[in-house]
Amino acid sequence: MKHSFILLITAFSLFVTACNEEQSGSRTVQAVESSKTYNWKMVTTWPPGFPVLQEGVERFADNIKIMSNGRLTIKVYAGGELIPALQTFDAVSQGMVEMGHGSAYYWAGKVPEAQFFSSVPFGMTARGMNAWLYDGGGLELWREVYKPFHVMPFPMGNSGVQMGGWFNKEINSLDDIKGLKMRIPGLGGKVFAKAGGNPILLAGSEVYTALERNTIDATEWLGPFHDQRLGLHRAAKHYYYPGWHEPGTVLELTVNQRAWDSLPKDLQAIVSNAAMAENLRMFSEMEQKNMAALQQLKDRPNIQIQHFPDDVLAKLKTLTDQTLAEEAANNPKFKRVYEAYQAFRLQNDAWSDISENAYLAIE
Ligand code: CA
Repeated sequence: MKHSFILLITAFSLFVTACNEEQSGSRTVQAVESSKTYNWKMVTTWPPGFPVLQEGVERFADNIKIMSNGRLTIKVYAGGELIPALQTFDAVSQGMVEMGHGSAYYWAGKVPEAQFFSSVPFGMTARGMNAWLYDGGGLELWREVYKPFHVMPFPMGNSGVQMGGWFNKEINSLDDIKGLKMRIPGLGGKVFAKAGGNPILLAGSEVYTALERNTIDATEWLGPFHDQRLGLHRAAKHYYYPGWHEPGTVLELTVNQRAWDSLPKDLQAIVSNAAMAENLRMFSEMEQKNMAALQQLKDRPNIQIQHFPDDVLAKLKTLTDQTLAEEAANNPKFKRVYEAYQAFRLQNDAWSDISENAYLAIE
């Protein structure tokens, strides 16, 4: 009896010791995790010092360093500084760098359906895109689309509604678009070609010279702030709106999946919340800078800020629907994202009509 009592006490104390060791063990793991530092590299598709976008990415990295108390530091490289701008997605996918910043339609050649996560012609504006991505299933779908590439996407910035572009002649009807050489990329370019135009692919650095020398007749770029900074008002005088081809381009943070998985939960939360904060901040800054630059452009002589004729826009919209339907018919992956996008977009339109649009229509 006494013997088995001692055995019981011994077994109990062994159990208590084991529990204590396990606890201190997990404390040790936590302590090691919380003292471990991560030094990451991030590449972007933007030129060095590019206002709002490259600056926003640098602010994102600075904020993460502060919030993590130096446990996660991110060295940011602009396009061309470490790798060519348009290799950003591949570099993140292959784990050459941990993070990237750009926009999903840059990878349309590799992932055509990714375009819905940046912007499609006559698509949703920033409001609708944020609602879809964060709360309407869009982000989950986006992550599924990037999963085979081992890339984790986050929305991080929005251009707002872009401008239609700079033209060296007036656009009064669809006939004025026939044969027009315009720098307009992506799906917008495909629609423009269907309308009889001649879309030209040019990097941002070449746009001004091409327009100024009449190598092209027209170009789109971004909004008043970036367009004026590029000097486009000196190369053409008709500045058209609205930017039907890019109504609210979402910018993306991409994180290599393995790198993401290696982060402890608290650092993951810091990264995803910093991305969400920067999503709002870049958009807000873009809006403020565009409104100020619009006023400056209005004050310049010899510039006409003009609305595209309604019938031209209506025709471009019909051609957009055709273009998207054709792409969907040829590509089941594209079709799947297109259908999800359209379903959300219909709800968004119905709500917008009696909220924002109805309010803004008050004279
Ligand atoms: Ca653009």
